[in-house]
Amino acid sequence: MRIDLHTHTRASDGTQSPTELVEAAVAAGLDVLGLTDHDTAEGWAEAERAADAAGLRLVRGMEISTKLDGRGVHLLAYLPDPTYPPLVALLDKVLDGRSSRVPAVLERLHALGIELTAHDVHRVSGDAAASGRPHIADALVAAGVVRDRDEAFRRFLNPGMPAYVDRYAAPLRDTIRAVAEAGGVSVIAHAWGRRTARIPDEAALAELADLGLAGLEVDHQDHDASQREALRGIARDLDLVVTGSSDHHGTGKVDHELACNTTAPQELERLLDLAAAARRTSGRDAPEPL
Ligand code: AMP
Ligand code: ZN
Ligand code: FE
Ligand code: FE
Repeated sequence: MRIDLHTHTRASDGTQSPTELVEAAVAAGLDVLGLTDHDTAEGWAEAERAADAAGLRLVRGMEISTKLDGRGVHLLAYLPDPTYPPLVALLDKVLDGRSSRVPAVLERLHALGIELTAHDVHRVSGDAAASGRPHIADALVAAGVVRDRDEAFRRFLNPGMPAYVDRYAAPLRDTIRAVAEAGGVSVIAHAWGRRTARIPDEAALAELADLGLAGLEVDHQDHDASQREALRGIARDLDLVVTGSSDHHGTGKVDHELACNTTAPQELERLLDLAAAARRTSGRDAPEPL
């Protein structure tokens, strides 16, 4: 049984439609696929139809942009009711923050002599719930300024680079609570990804576990072997579920092929048991697919 619990489509910043993603997952030999677009459930219905047709098990989720003590933390939420009003309000605020930053980024690019319009960005963001930095990167590629997304981030869009603009992210603790109230479970994505500091540290993770955090994404391309080993030990100490996933974005992110990291079946089972418990406690449920 092969399980990949973190992937993106064009509903956020992946390059595949939900149907194309499901087909690619089957071709990659996956049995279970987690769909976790940034801050939206927009892709769920189409992915569910495609997964049913293909005999693939879909775990509906989303990756929410949050902040803890001023640092960005991506929170994977599995099986929340996406119509629960406080969760909807929280996601709308994040999506608004992402889209409304676009003009400020374009102004900074303009100051660098690069002329890009909001229309150029919307043209490439297509079906996405909001236009993010990856779409601005795609517009820079389309304009011939850079070769790929990675170059756009390295030269312009990463923190510290001249066109970087910060945006709103939801408070992490509030988000964990809203996900639980919506009948879902929370897993911290790439917990120590691309940082040298091992933050959140064990004490912070213990506090989050007390608040209802269910798991840690340990096996991820952003973690080296020693980070994975340390995170696995913390998960064991705190009785957190351990997941592994590709964070696939189609062709939007290199070195994140489907199934490059996977989740053990017994860990998925624990996660789904916790989701069932959250569903019972909250009385809420991710609605049945159409
Ligand atoms: P935003 O949420 O609009 O600030 O955009 C951040 C998203 O851009 C992240 O969640 C990643 O999925 C994506 N991203 C970050 N760095 C890169 C990169 N070097 N290449 C492609 N995508 C990236
Ligand atoms: Zn992304
Ligand atoms: Fe992420
Ligand atoms: Fe992701």
